[in-house]
Amino acid sequence: MDLSRRSLLGGLAVGGTTLAAGGVLDLADSAPALGLQGSLPSRVDVVVVGAGISGLVAAHRLAVHGRDVLVVEARDRVGGRVLNHRLGPGNVIESGGAFIGPTQTHIAALAKQLDVRTFDEYVDGQSVYVSSTLGRMTYQGTVPPDPTILPDAALLQTRIDQYAKEIDVAAPWKHPMAAEWDRMTLAQFIQQNCVNAEGINRIIRCWTQPGFGADPEELSFLYVVWYCACSGDRMHPGTFERNSDTADGAQKKRFVGGSQLIPLRLARRLGDVVALEAPVRRIEQRHRHAVVHTGRGPVHARKVVVAVPPPMVLDIDWHPHLPAGRRALMRHLDMGELMKCDAVYRTPFWRKAGLNGFGIADSGAVRAAFDNCPRDGDPGVLLAFVGGGTWRTYGLMTRAKRRRAVLEGFATMFGDQALHPVDYVEHDWTHERWTTGGPVANYAPEVLTSVGHTIRRPFRRVHWAGTETATYWTGYMDGAVRAGERAAREVLAG
Ligand code: FAD
Repeated sequence: MDLSRRSLLGGLAVGGTTLAAGGVLDLADSAPALGLQGSLPSRVDVVVVGAGISGLVAAHRLAVHGRDVLVVEARDRVGGRVLNHRLGPGNVIESGGAFIGPTQTHIAALAKQLDVRTFDEYVDGQSVYVSSTLGRMTYQGTVPPDPTILPDAALLQTRIDQYAKEIDVAAPWKHPMAAEWDRMTLAQFIQQNCVNAEGINRIIRCWTQPGFGADPEELSFLYVVWYCACSGDRMHPGTFERNSDTADGAQKKRFVGGSQLIPLRLARRLGDVVALEAPVRRIEQRHRHAVVHTGRGPVHARKVVVAVPPPMVLDIDWHPHLPAGRRALMRHLDMGELMKCDAVYRTPFWRKAGLNGFGIADSGAVRAAFDNCPRDGDPGVLLAFVGGGTWRTYGLMTRAKRRRAVLEGFATMFGDQALHPVDYVEHDWTHERWTTGGPVANYAPEVLTSVGHTIRRPFRRVHWAGTETATYWTGYMDGAVRAGERAAREVLAG
């Protein structure tokens, strides 16, 4: 089916170059010359704002149903929070979203349609735990064998899973305990319920800093329970374990050729209806249509789908003004603070030592480390998430100091060889003009229960996509797909 208004750039073929099968990056996948050149059309059925996974999925759905769509994207690339980094010929790592896992069926199905294959994250061998009181130990499973935290960790996990089961993922504010849970932070819940609150608080950061880009003191407890409830699907209630685990959780698999292949290939399927370097500055809603003012000129549309991170919604000049509830919600949804730091080695030396490359530490720059090698393990790559309070310490240092701290963190976990990488790569999402942080926009106390219900409520001709509007797997690539599909359904029904 021809999806674009003028010419379809041929299914998965671009400019005569067929994309390589099996998710292997080829020239066409990385070519920057993508999208609609020249002036924008003056009128379409639907303008989609944002060419992240969510916006592209919404646009694709609408195009398949015969709607004339235009995607307007501020950056000079597609993918938003999903971004490949080339290590060398044929080898990439991800600077943004990377992992998928069980029940993330929407992103998995999309990847399959686009012929992007997955591979299992390396899990053979032991994980490492570095405690400032007990020292370094190796372990298997989800929770490190630290006797000072085990009973509290079990209690916390049981409580979260029990509450998550009771929550309506589409309306967490309706739970009978919602007001009480939303008044406190995760840190306060821990303080009130754990014997060794200090120990748990130190270790739970190894989950909240990569997962939310935030600390337990910043996150509403209701939000955390809801986030875990979202880590599943209709048949499988979300759990803490599925959210946090590698072997059977959200970090189970990665994409061959890098996750950005998905938005790149989807954009190519859409063809010349994706306009890059077209930031939306103003949206006017009139009686019969909306006018979307972009850096490349105005476009009239019957409907608009906005698929940008929450802070970016406020960056747009709205006429009429956004409803007060939505404005308040967007103002209080804060992007996490997160960067990824990758050290590249000739070989994954830790594997030979019986380690799987996963590590957590209760201090230092590396609170959570992952094996981030390409599928064939060549080269070796260790990944550190530096988020929340750890980002506020190390993210603000000079690159040289941070590099040293990250490599020392890896060395404590995996041995001194980690001090001598052949390359070091980092990406700080707080520096990104069109994202401002990551991985997700978070709820502080009393936001979900006061204005959370406005999250998906259309505003006249405007419908909302973006991972933050998802019910299952909100905050993840899977949530971005689901949200794009839902927004498209709304438009088609309207
Ligand atoms: P985005 O990707 O943010 O796309 C929004 C788009 O809107 C962007 O392209 C932006 O440039 C554009 N835009 C913004 N403002 C405007 C404007 N005014 N006009 C026009 N365009 C505009 N998820 C996982 O599933 N697994 C992971 O392992 C994982 N790890 C992550 C690690 C990091 C470091 C980060 C940052 C994210 C991670 N995520 C992960 C989250 C995942 O990347 C996101 O949930 C998902 O990519 C969001 O997609 P989206 O389309 O909703 O939003």
